Amino acid sequence: MPLKRCSDNGKNGWKWGDQGSCYTGKDGKNQAIKQGIAIEGPEKFAKIMREEAAEWHGKTLYDSLSDDEKELANALISLAQKIGPLDKGEGVWVGYENGSTNEVKDIGVKCGNCALHKSENACAILDQEIEMDGACRFAVIPPGLVKPKQVEKDIEEYLNEDSSGKSIIKKEM
Ligand code: SF4
Repeated sequence: MPLKRCSDNGKNGWKWGDQGSCYTGKDGKNQAIKQGIAIEGPEKFAKIMREEAAEWHGKTLYDSLSDDEKELANALISLAQKIGPLDKGEGVWVGYENGSTNEVKDIGVKCGNCALHKSENACAILDQEIEMDGACRFAVIPPGLVKPKQVEKDIEEYLNEDSSGKSIIKKEM
């Protein structure tokens, strides 16, 4: 992701690649784009941006993240660029579950809602094949796609189960 978020002196901004300057303020994104054009040349720049948009299915989700979540997504991508796919990293537990074992897919925690999915079977930070209903512990999901009401209901049900898993909520007469 050559055009990326950054921060400088506590201000959010944009930069081109890992080496470029971080431009903050209203015009920051335009300045970073200009820097990208200067570094790559106009044709290569356009090709990179086209390929990036075509290959990255999670781009729209990324654009919907809050600034803090974007920072998190950027940090994970930068880490994967630095050390390689996280599921190949020594001692890194990614906790990936496929669609059939992901117990939180129904509340929206799944690769299909994660800004880091590159395509329907590829992730920007993992090497392994993924499924749209799968998820790992690094999921970065825009606000609104995880259903908190369902989470609350699940927690309530869990808290009201006895040791055999039966509900102990008394039904009102
Ligand atoms: S949930 Fe994990 S495996 Fe799935 S796309 Fe996001 S980062 Fe990749």
